[in-house]
Amino acid sequence: TQTRTELDLSTSKRHYEAAQHRIPGGVNSPARAFKSVGGTPLFIDRAEGAYMTDVDGNRYIDYIGSWGPMLFGHAHPDVVRAVKEAADASTSFGAPTEIEIEVAELVCDLVPSVEKVRMVNSGTEATMSAARVARGYTGRDKIIKFAGNYHGHGDFFLIAAGSGPLSLGEPNSPGVTEGNAKDTLLARYNDAAHVRELAESYEDEVACIIVEPIAGNMGCIPPEPGFLEELRAICDEHGIVLIFDEVMTGFRVAPGGAQERYGVTPDMTTLGKIIGGGLPVGAYGGKKAIMDYVSPVGPVYQAGTLSGNPLAMRAGHAVLSKIATEKDDIYPQLERYSEALEEGTRQNLDALGLSYYTTRVGAMGSLFFSDERVTDLETAKACDTEAYADYFHAMLEEGVYLAPSQFEAYFFGTQHGEAELDKTLAAQRNALKRIH
Ligand code: PMP
Repeated sequence: TQTRTELDLSTSKRHYEAAQHRIPGGVNSPARAFKSVGGTPLFIDRAEGAYMTDVDGNRYIDYIGSWGPMLFGHAHPDVVRAVKEAADASTSFGAPTEIEIEVAELVCDLVPSVEKVRMVNSGTEATMSAARVARGYTGRDKIIKFAGNYHGHGDFFLIAAGSGPLSLGEPNSPGVTEGNAKDTLLARYNDAAHVRELAESYEDEVACIIVEPIAGNMGCIPPEPGFLEELRAICDEHGIVLIFDEVMTGFRVAPGGAQERYGVTPDMTTLGKIIGGGLPVGAYGGKKAIMDYVSPVGPVYQAGTLSGNPLAMRAGHAVLSKIATEKDDIYPQLERYSEALEEGTRQNLDALGLSYYTTRVGAMGSLFFSDERVTDLETAKACDTEAYADYFHAMLEEGVYLAPSQFEAYFFGTQHGEAELDKTLAAQRNALKRIH
């Protein structure tokens, strides 16, 4: 069918109007505001499995999954039960609990680089803390980050992506000081030679290289063969701490994240999203020698009133223990879905004579509205973002909820099955036809 179904978004519109009076932009995180695609952000009522329902009663197949956490779908019974049971015993103690040991042990068992781990409350906290520890450990100030990678909103990560050979970052948010910016060196993603140049010209000054081992924040861009291996070698040669930011990729592309998938082991890893099963959790971990620099055993201070919160730890434990016991089924299943989704997308594109670029790794991927390969920020920026916006709205009307930006990946989980695949591809066929 090609009939355009106009969505009734009247309640969302009313809420959005009210929200803007008391909440900046009406949202508590900017990515939710539909800024790059226009229109009214959907206010959500509830979600279950692969489906989400907005306050007007419209139902969608969800490919955001709360921006990553929902590997097992929404309201998974194990997670819901864990949270309810935890709440009955009080929501927070500010004292150590047994469940924290179990979660730490699971993380160490699953993630190759992690020998010790510290829980925090968000991905932002995880990366900020990891960078501080790397700086304390090496006694150096500078960090290398990649244009188009996102590591949360810590000051020294909010450096303009910049175009061309820009290497000294400029703040890209008022409030980030020049002082912060001068310690952040910007490199091109998938360009190890550029990183090597930076490491050599700032010999003995670079504390860490932080990288999304699969970029997910300029759309999904996998590492080119050899890129991560080269970063590992550069860090070894220059005494630099290699940090994989696996907030998005951790437990998503393999039980042990991108580092397991590509066989490259960083010195430190940051985690978030799936690790908390939808509750606010982040974590950073790594080699014992480095993690023992963290307070109270070491000199680098880092703390949190709600860190290791019992609700969050119970939810995380439910998810991680499921991964640990069922990984041999889970990841091949996700891979099959990913393959079929890409294959079906290719067929839809071919039928319309389109040659847009697709990427996928494990349970994440992107459809780039560009005929060229996308390997870094510059090539990502060449995408037709207006066409993506049209596609996004057409997909919503077809009942599929995608990320409201070309520069975000899609995510799915184990609740996305045969039926969801067929509906998604049919929706995509209609949507692509309508906008071209
Ligand atoms: N690192 C990466 C790779 C991320 O994708 C994100 C969030 N999208 C963060 C860090 C920040 O995590 P949070 O939003 O939980 O602070």
